Amino acid sequence: MPKKSPQLPASLAGVLDIPAFRRALLGWFAASARNLPWRRTLDPYHVWLSEIMLQQTQMDRAVDYFERFIARFPDLSSLDAGSEDEVLKLWEGLGYYTRARNLRKAARQVMERHAGVFPRAHKDIRALPGVGPYTAGAIASVAYNDPLPAVDANVLRVFSRLLDLDAPVDVPEVRRRIEAAAAELLDPADARGFNQGLMELGALVCAPRKPDCPACPVAGFCLARERGTQQSRPVLKPGPEIMRIHMACGVLASRGRLYIQKRRPDDVWPGLWEFPGGVLEQGETPEEALVRELREETGLAVRPGAKIAVVRSSYTRYRITLHGFFCHAGAQVDPEQSFCLNEASEARFVAPAELSRFAFPSGHARLVAKLLTDLRLDAFLSAC
Ligand code: SF4
Repeated sequence: MPKKSPQLPASLAGVLDIPAFRRALLGWFAASARNLPWRRTLDPYHVWLSEIMLQQTQMDRAVDYFERFIARFPDLSSLDAGSEDEVLKLWEGLGYYTRARNLRKAARQVMERHAGVFPRAHKDIRALPGVGPYTAGAIASVAYNDPLPAVDANVLRVFSRLLDLDAPVDVPEVRRRIEAAAAELLDPADARGFNQGLMELGALVCAPRKPDCPACPVAGFCLARERGTQQSRPVLKPGPEIMRIHMACGVLASRGRLYIQKRRPDDVWPGLWEFPGGVLEQGETPEEALVRELREETGLAVRPGAKIAVVRSSYTRYRITLHGFFCHAGAQVDPEQSFCLNEASEARFVAPAELSRFAFPSGHARLVAKLLTDLRLDAFLSAC
């Protein structure tokens, strides 16, 4: 908890002209709001879906995903009726797949407890799987214009600069004070515009690295701008240590079809599909790891063939290098009998053209893309 800080006022009333701030922000947002697909309706289903997608995803990236998702699942009942594989496939590449699984759970909950109608009460919205305090406030304010603050990472950054806070915004006490300030500053007559305006300001003007203060509609209220400290706000804590991991996986085939397996519900990336393989142990080559992992995972003795590709993926705390190989089993693999499932919940042989129906973690998805354009694939399939 930070020591007493004069930069954390108990009330904003003595710090800035609240009505003037609201007018400046709302006027700017009315003129500058981006034309985003979820802003073309106040349907709470659309608002909810957009807020879940945007939790860990850049706005530009979310647009295509949102439009594809809404085209396939236009309402809660269609989402409830959809399969997990289909939902995960539409989410493929967005990461943080728990969000997608929670969407389905929430759709079920709405069907069972609210007769298929998205809930109106804040407590019922907050009770949906995957909906935290920020998301509940954003949905209630945007869909229903309820006077509730919605403090996301953009808004935290804007407040850290408006108030020139000299403590990290993820310190719980600092965050609580920012949430209180956001509630005080919120325009109760236009919570929808105010909350979206603050988020838009953080995304377009008060950007993380280069805040565009000359273009900022609330520059006259900003203490960091007045003191020249914008670039050092918000105060950042040291990031987590990055772990570098090498993995190997093998593409096996039988009778023109490729082997894929589904990750177990209790594993990382549950429900996603992959080629069998795993993490290199210390001192192992990718080929040695491949032979060991496939013996452990499938019970098969395999021989690594040519390397398909090496693909790299970045996650918050990890950098993963995946070595993908064509892979040969000692005898022809019998899809009905040859496998034991030690590390998977399900396995299938699929035609190469069917791979696009399954959701893979990003490294495997990129390996699939390389495999499907690999000129050696046809010869490999013929030989297996
Ligand atoms: S004046 Fe600059 S630092 Fe302050 S809120 Fe506007 S863009 Fe951010």
